[in-house]
Amino acid sequence: MNTQSPNHSITKSPNSSTCLVLYSGGLDSILACRILQEQGIHVIALYFITPFFGYKLKGREKILEKKVLADQGIEFKEIDISDAYLKMVKNPEHGYGKYINPCIDCKILMVRKAMKMLGEFNATFVATGEVLGQRPMSQRRDALRIIERDSGADGLLLRPLSALHLRPTDMENKGLVDRSRLLGLTGRGRKDQIALAGKYGIKEYPAPAGGCVLADPILSRRFKRMFELWPELDVNDCVLAQMGKHFILPDGSWLVIGRDERENAKIVSLMRQGDIRLDLTSGPGPTGLWRKIYSDVNADLAASILCRYARLKKRPEEIKLSGHGTENIKTIRTVPASDEIINKYRM
Ligand code: SF4
Repeated sequence: MNTQSPNHSITKSPNSSTCLVLYSGGLDSILACRILQEQGIHVIALYFITPFFGYKLKGREKILEKKVLADQGIEFKEIDISDAYLKMVKNPEHGYGKYINPCIDCKILMVRKAMKMLGEFNATFVATGEVLGQRPMSQRRDALRIIERDSGADGLLLRPLSALHLRPTDMENKGLVDRSRLLGLTGRGRKDQIALAGKYGIKEYPAPAGGCVLADPILSRRFKRMFELWPELDVNDCVLAQMGKHFILPDGSWLVIGRDERENAKIVSLMRQGDIRLDLTSGPGPTGLWRKIYSDVNADLAASILCRYARLKKRPEEIKLSGHGTENIKTIRTVPASDEIINKYRM
């Protein structure tokens, strides 16, 4: 097997097939790309953006395209499927894993989307970095088959890392892909993948499943509660849910408080019509975003919770409430909320 570093050329030879690979940036998906490239197949890596993974990339797509090409020799396209993904997460046909990770439906959605894009890229098949038996939910043999069937990719979904343990695909049967150069990895061990990374000269890659907040014990609990409280939860809400400290006030409104300057700025960037922003009048400090407000009955409570996280310069502190524009709604003089209040309303 030739395992030299990529020559960073994406020129497609006239007779080669083109394949769309589901690319997470993790080692398995990088290896899937490299194994196919080594056979002369033109690979286009599809990176999916959803509110639960990949979202940090938004706005930096071009930079990443260049980086992945330079570092890995892989042509890269990002696809934002946030709305469709959120709809699926609220009601996945095949259920959730240990947390609220709908892994089987997640894969089905991405493979189905890739299948729809074959024509756009003049591609003939789809591949993933899935490894038989690696994950308890989505990488069991029956789950791999369900993903292939329900995504409409029958015979056209190749798993290069485990192909030797799976039914040959149409591409292998037709000789477009050389089955003898595919792998037969199985199970949860990472030894073989790490050895391959060494041979291919792949140095940077994140931990497996890193970055999907649906499989995060703390964030998944928060999302579960939020889906129950607000079934209409949208993409902006889901992004906001991943930063700051969270409180549900007695009227059912939602208060988010930034933990540092970076989070304060992000929270402000997510502000929209109907939200109220809370700031100290005395200078820098935490920023709060108050959402799903039906009356200002809990304004004093929201101000006192924010005050709790301020390094107070004076007591009582003044908290300014302002709307989505710059309009000032009111200023509230308050003191920090007690431990009891914080524990009672913290989500
Ligand atoms: S861990 Fe997250 S990204 Fe990975 S398959 Fe499951 S739901 Fe999808």
